[in-house]
Amino acid sequence: MEQVSEPFSFDPDEVRERYRRERDKRLRDNGPDQYIEMAGDYARYAEGDPYVEPGFTRDPIADDIDIAIIGGGFSGLLAAARLSERGVSGLRIIEAGGDFGGTWYWNRYPGAQCDTDAYCYLPLLEELGYMPREKYAYVDEIFGHSQKIGRHYDLYDRAIFRTRVRSVSWDETLGRWRIATDRDDDIRARFVIMALGTTTRAKLPGIAGIESFEGHSFHTSRWDYGYTGGDNTGGMTNLADKRVAVIGTGATAIQCVPRLARDAGRLYVFQRTPSTVDWRRNRPTDPEWFASLEPGWQRRRRDNFTVQAAGVPVEEDLIDDGWTRIFRAISSPKGENRPKTREERDRVVELADMAKMDELRHRVEEIVADPATAEALKPWYRVMCKRPTFNDEFLPCFNQDNVTLVDVSDSKGVERITPRGVVANGTEYEVDLIVYATGFEISAEFKRRLGIGINGRDGLSLFDHWADGLKTLHGFTTRGFPNWFYIGVSQNAFDLNMTSMFDDQARHVAYIIDETLQRGARTVEPTEDGVQGWLDLLGSFHIGGGGFLAECTPGYYNNEGKPTGGSGFFGAYAPGPARFNQLLEDWRATGDLPGMELA
Ligand code: NDP
Repeated sequence: MEQVSEPFSFDPDEVRERYRRERDKRLRDNGPDQYIEMAGDYARYAEGDPYVEPGFTRDPIADDIDIAIIGGGFSGLLAAARLSERGVSGLRIIEAGGDFGGTWYWNRYPGAQCDTDAYCYLPLLEELGYMPREKYAYVDEIFGHSQKIGRHYDLYDRAIFRTRVRSVSWDETLGRWRIATDRDDDIRARFVIMALGTTTRAKLPGIAGIESFEGHSFHTSRWDYGYTGGDNTGGMTNLADKRVAVIGTGATAIQCVPRLARDAGRLYVFQRTPSTVDWRRNRPTDPEWFASLEPGWQRRRRDNFTVQAAGVPVEEDLIDDGWTRIFRAISSPKGENRPKTREERDRVVELADMAKMDELRHRVEEIVADPATAEALKPWYRVMCKRPTFNDEFLPCFNQDNVTLVDVSDSKGVERITPRGVVANGTEYEVDLIVYATGFEISAEFKRRLGIGINGRDGLSLFDHWADGLKTLHGFTTRGFPNWFYIGVSQNAFDLNMTSMFDDQARHVAYIIDETLQRGARTVEPTEDGVQGWLDLLGSFHIGGGGFLAECTPGYYNNEGKPTGGSGFFGAYAPGPARFNQLLEDWRATGDLPGMELA
């Protein structure tokens, strides 16, 4: 940790009080219910696909397969890759989009980029022999990488694209899952792997009058380049004479606002809570450096990121970026400076956090010329209360004459949408286009987040089974749902580098399926004791996250200010991903799948 010592350039009591005030003014009684689920009348915002020709039809598929992977983003691709490496064939990937890519298929908004170091984030780099172009990859490269994985592992022939799974139901007589889709398919699979990712279902704010708008509107995950012109690099020439509103200032808006500021005649950015915006400093990959990397380098680099995120000091910070600087800044001091008590540690970490946020607020002042705008852009909360962002172009936009920041924090968000535009703070802003940069059902309760019916043995709904809380073994399997696997954030460990987490989970799931097949079993599922043992272990951690998150300004990290509800975002295995992976490795090494039952 970088040492923070008195005197500070801020008064900790005042900062603490300001954080509380800023949180309280944003808290809403309806928490996550302020958002509209993208179904029914709103489905057009989330279910259309602007990247394929409309009007596609095909005959329903009736097929018996071994393994159905639902989702063709990185988690599904990794599951397919790790199964293939084990020689397990007979799999198919069912994907709503017209190609692989998942979130990077849908989120092709201008400026879309991954904030995590590409050498860590892009999976299977060594397997594919691929060198990322830059330290932070843009969406075209990331989407292209998904396609490369698809080709490398021969997955295109085994993909069922443009097909949305509606439900999966266990058929005891067949010993298979029956998969119903929006194309009336009847696919019967022995094993199902849910690989839906975290940003699967887009959401809209429930702003009054939203359907009355007579101009054009879309969600960032369905960017309409037919309307704007251009592509993810910009060049949206159709917007030159248009007035555009962006609602939201999360990680997505931070990336698309600079491109809109460049191309739109007029841009209004409606901000309820400012993001932290740290520097980006992207740079091309040095081919000599890349060629010098020793085999196994990607795993080492991924682990280097992961352990730093857990606050563990490393000899060398291989990543050395905005993320790892945050980790270092707010981790508890080690060695001689180690705090003696929990209270002391909490205080030291809190002060370090304040210092980091103070630095980020100063950055706003240094860049944004108008003092009132700069003031409104300053974030007042602890650094990990909201997803940090990194961008060199966002803040300077507010020095442009065609860009206006509209701070809607006092009214808890945009007030109303009218046929002509957006009402905020009593003023109507007439616009031609509204872009909803309002995020995804990331931490909503599971039923809402997944949007797929899941019915296990005797027709039991997964969501009823989990009504009082998740009941899994390691987060991947649950009793009464034979041969069913979930890859994603649940009762496991959360890794900010999502693809790393997905890969380790995919390896584990592939191992269990392979073992089940090799042992000639029909089904595999956790035992009652296996699940209970895992729940007992998780219960012993007394996770402090609820406390920390309860004090945070609302957002999806804390289920919109209701941190004890929802499906959680950070995973339940508190010791973190490095220890979790070790635990899984030890579990596999026993060779007898403890806590699971083969039949
Ligand atoms: P977020 O949920 O982070 O942001 C939604 C935004 O909409 C917030 O600023 C929110 O304000 C605002 N909002 C919601 N309702 C209203 C309202 N009624 N009036 C005004 N504003 C409103 O969604 P994003 O799409 O930005 O990001 C989602 C996640 O996707 C990221 O956190 C990240 O995990 C991922 N992502 C990853 C990237 C990467 O680099 N890998 C890049 C982009 C996204 P408030 O904060 O007050 O709720």
